[in-house]
Amino acid sequence: MSNIRHYIHELMHGNSFFSAQLICRYTAVSIGVIHMLNMVLFLIAESFVMAGASLAGGVMYFTLIFRLVQKDRLLTMYLISFAEILTAVLLCTLLVGWDAGFSSYLFAGVSSSFYFTFVGQKNQEHPHQSLPLVLSLMVIFAYFLNYAIMLFITPLLPIGKPEMMTVIYIYNTLVSFALMIVFSYLFVWEILNRQRVLAEQNEKLDELAHKDPLTHLLNRRSMNEMLTERMEILKRTGRRFTMILGDIDDFKKVNDTFGHEAGDMVLVTVSDILRSSVGEDDAVCRWGGEEILILIASPLELGAVTAERICRTIENSVIKYEEKEIRITMTFGIAESIPGYRVEHLIQQADDKLYYGKTHGKNQVVTDIPRPGVFS
Ligand code: GH3
Ligand code: MG
Ligand code: MG
Repeated sequence: MSNIRHYIHELMHGNSFFSAQLICRYTAVSIGVIHMLNMVLFLIAESFVMAGASLAGGVMYFTLIFRLVQKDRLLTMYLISFAEILTAVLLCTLLVGWDAGFSSYLFAGVSSSFYFTFVGQKNQEHPHQSLPLVLSLMVIFAYFLNYAIMLFITPLLPIGKPEMMTVIYIYNTLVSFALMIVFSYLFVWEILNRQRVLAEQNEKLDELAHKDPLTHLLNRRSMNEMLTERMEILKRTGRRFTMILGDIDDFKKVNDTFGHEAGDMVLVTVSDILRSSVGEDDAVCRWGGEEILILIASPLELGAVTAERICRTIENSVIKYEEKEIRITMTFGIAESIPGYRVEHLIQQADDKLYYGKTHGKNQVVTDIPRPGVFS
């Protein structure tokens, strides 16, 4: 019972769907209960043979099938139920007649065969797709067999009370429709569930393919793709962008002084600062160990302002690690996109400026190298 409450809660919050085992278990119990109610109706109608047969069917569901569900043999359980229902319907028509409405249970056999063969097969990657079709053909055959019985054989154990016959007919028809609707709905539910799981897996794969696992910044490959795309846009529309290549100053010292774990934490914190310092159209990537490449969707003048702001924010940040305070600085080299240039050429320009900054005091943004003639 607590299981059901849990699942209903999960369902309502869109977290989970019923498991196939649970569905099969409750289906077996429900069909057992349907048999028991049939038994009660037959007892009232004073049709004791039929009541006994219903009891036997009910007991079968409560024991044998229940065990199969526990052993996770769902398809076997379904096939046994399917055979039981076809046989029971045939016997009921033979004994009490077509008018008792037992043949309508066969319709539920079609929707249930699609649902249970879909969820019950162990080999989900290569399921026997023809199985529900074969079962449906058997249902059609059984239906016309019942019809032929109605035409050619008078009921062997007719129910004496006509009003009870009507009650049994209404009961059987309503239950058959209910089963049909439930199995069809479960089928749709199952497909929606699988789609949701796939979408979540795709999202995770996408994250793995495009993001750096430590910092959750874009990885180098995604940045390369993005740069190529931006260069294309630049060629078509003339929209310039700025490339900022940054490197943490004296990071080896951080590792040596505080340990590699502290170094990792510094990297994560710096990445968070960088990510929150740029706009929606900009992108931050972990280009190498502690080297960061930032793409700003504005021309150099604006890009340089952003870089300067980032440089000061990093300088003023205090990173806490196990009661210790770590302060770091970064050096940045900037290059503006120029139509016709290759991406590698831009990166080289940013790298040269970064190197200049590293060899001229660090903790700064280098937009130009003050040596005439070199980068003209
Ligand atoms: P500089 O100011 O010249 O950049 O000095 P630096 O010490 O930062 O020198 P460099 O950039 O060459 O060193 C990078 C160091 O970063 C070396 C490597 O151990 C460390 N590093 C790279 N990736 C990681 C990482 O993922 N975690 C940690 N903790 N350290 C890393
Ligand atoms: Mg460094
Ligand atoms: Mg480095």
